[in-house]
Parts: sequence; structure tokens; C-alpha cells
Amino acid sequence: MIPVGYRNKLLVIRLDKKKSEEKPIKTSLGRELIGGKGFGAYFLLKYTKKNMDPFDPSNVLIMASGPLNATKVPIASKLGFFFKSPMTNGYGESYVGGSIPKYPKWIGYDVVIITGKAPKPTYIIISDEGVEFIDAKELWGKTTIETDNILKKRHGKNISVACIGPAGERMVRYACICIDKWRQAGRCGAGAVMGSKNLKAIIFTGEGDYVDPANPVEFEGLLGELWEKIRESKGVKRLREYGTSAMVPVANEMGFFPTKYWTHGTLDKWENIGPESIKSILIRPNPCWNCPIACGRYIRINTRWGEIEIDGPEYETIYAMGGLFCVDKLEDLVYLNYLADAFGMDTITLGNILGLAVEASKRGKIKLEIDYGNINMAVNLIKMIAYRKDIG
Ligand code: SF4
Repeated sequence: MIPVGYRNKLLVIRLDKKKSEEKPIKTSLGRELIGGKGFGAYFLLKYTKKNMDPFDPSNVLIMASGPLNATKVPIASKLGFFFKSPMTNGYGESYVGGSIPKYPKWIGYDVVIITGKAPKPTYIIISDEGVEFIDAKELWGKTTIETDNILKKRHGKNISVACIGPAGERMVRYACICIDKWRQAGRCGAGAVMGSKNLKAIIFTGEGDYVDPANPVEFEGLLGELWEKIRESKGVKRLREYGTSAMVPVANEMGFFPTKYWTHGTLDKWENIGPESIKSILIRPNPCWNCPIACGRYIRINTRWGEIEIDGPEYETIYAMGGLFCVDKLEDLVYLNYLADAFGMDTITLGNILGLAVEASKRGKIKLEIDYGNINMAVNLIKMIAYRKDIG
């Protein structure tokens, strides 16, 4: 039986040759492998060499998703990036939501593999009409937010933009890929791999179409049941009201909120960066495509650096930049989150680095005066890391 939920095609994009090629995927693979992760691991092994440096041009950046993605099933709203990780020198994966996950399958591919290194800064547009390679000279050096704004102005709003910032360009090993400004494929250094390929941005566009189910009648019935369950779920209501910040009180009350570089389990004044504080500055919940939960928080806040609007902070950012570095003012936390997103760095690793820097500084291991909650020093250090200057 032909597995459904898939297109049974992959797209290989060769940046050095400015070429793309469509290839069939054996229909049995969809049954043998487990979803997008299975495809990602399978093609990573197949397309890379043993002992390859993660920044070697032959490293690949793979995008893949599972059988429910691009169907009408709600919350199946994630796209996986797979690559050899510059963080671990091993298998790397990072998942992201936003508007991008549906696109590869909508335009006809279960898997997109990007390989090679562009001879100069480039961005690509992937659509049902093929792949376009465009000079990105004037985008190089721009933040992720600037890049997204420029590309949407140039190519229209009906696109999804995945781009890197200055950190990815400089191959900071935990650089992330930012999707439509506010969603990040943050883990394992996917943005650094993109930077090593001179690839500033990937744009997806196209009308696309849902992937058909094997049994449409049964499928519609199950969809109805699923929507009912989602509507009734208390967990969903809480996530919709507070986003992932709902975890902050739970973690603090139970004593497992990562604090002071993993030495404490509760942050004094955690309420300042907790769910009620974030709710007080909420503009609107921000959903990924086809997700009724809408856990994303689009917020606005006045800071000493000016008014900031972002989607965030998520629980992981709250504990990493708030807990581990002991930031208990919401405006400061939001600003650190904003800088990480704009420069294109993973907030979880960056928060860990800030805490590590404090402990290393105390022990005289680094020449940097920094202490917990010292925002000005954190801002300086983040800039040094993003631009790989001085100790960064
Ligand atoms: S909005 Fe939240 S719950 Fe829904 S897919 Fe995105 S990250 Fe997941």
C-alpha cells in the first residue's frame, strides 16, 4: 500500500552550482522511518561523509516534516531542520513552528536538502515553480528583523522567511535560524551551518495544497473529535491564556526553576517574569499555522532602550536568560530576548553562557567583570559574541 501523508519527493539544492534537482523518495521509506525526524536522520547519514567538519560545504541543511504536517490536522505545525551540529560535532536537529512548516509539502516535497556553499552571500526562493538564487550582498550584516522586513517588502507578505543574523554569518556555534522574525530553529547551531554556506535567507512561497488523507470520511470524523478534545482541554486553555510562561510558577513552587547557573531551584521575585506579568503586556496570542492553542505571546513593553515588540519570552528563555542569569525585571528580560533574536542566537545556550561567564569571572578564569543580573554587561557580552569581538 502506498503510504499517504507524503509527497514521495525530495528537493536537493546545490548552492555552489546554483542548481536544484527533484528526486523520488521510495514510497516504502514513509513506513520504515518515523516521521520527519526519521527522514532527517536517514538523509543526513546518506548525504554526509564520516568525520566531516560541520562547516564543510558538504554538510547539509535538511528540512523535513512528518505525515500529519500540511494536512488539516491541527497542531501538526512543526518543521525539522537536520544537519551535522557545530555545537556537538554530531547529529543536530532543531524544530520550528510559525508559518513555514506547511510549505515544503504544500509545494510538493517531503524533504528539502541544501548542500554546498554559495560563492557569495545568497538567498533562495523555493516555490512550486522551482528555486531562485539571489545575491544577498546588501542583506549581509543585517539583523534577522531587518532582513525579514526587507524581504517581505521586496517579495510581498505571503511568504515565509527563514534567515540568519550577524551571529549566523560569523558562525557562532549556537546561532539560530529565525522564521518570520519570531520563531526560531534555535538548537544545535542550524544558523551557523547556514552562515557557513553563505546562505542569508530561505524564502518559501506558493499557494500549495493540503496533503490528502487515505480515507477522507474517517479522517474528517477524527478531525471533529480532535477539535472537540482541544476545545475541552484545561491544559490548552492555560497555554492559550499564558503561553509557555505558565510553567514558571510550577517550576518555582516545586523548586526546579533553573537559577543562578544551575545552583538554585527558585528565583526570588520570579513573579516579575512570570505569566501574570507577561499577560499584562500581551498584545495578542500568536499561533503557528493551523494551531488553535496559540501559545506564542506577542507583547509590547517600554524599556530603557525604547519600546519593544516581540513574540516571547517563552518558558525556556525565561529560565535561561531570567533564571540562570538572575534577571527579575521583565523589561530587561525582554530586551535580552530581543537581542538574541535580532542577532540570531539561541536564547537557551546564550542564557547558559551568561551564567557560565559569571562563574568563570568569579573564579578569575576570564578577564570580564560580570555578575548575576548585570544587564549592561550582559548586553555588551551578547554583542561581543554576535560579532565575535574581544572575549565573545
Ligand atoms: S502555537 Fe504553540 S502549541 Fe501551537 S504549534 Fe506553535 S508552539 Fe506548538
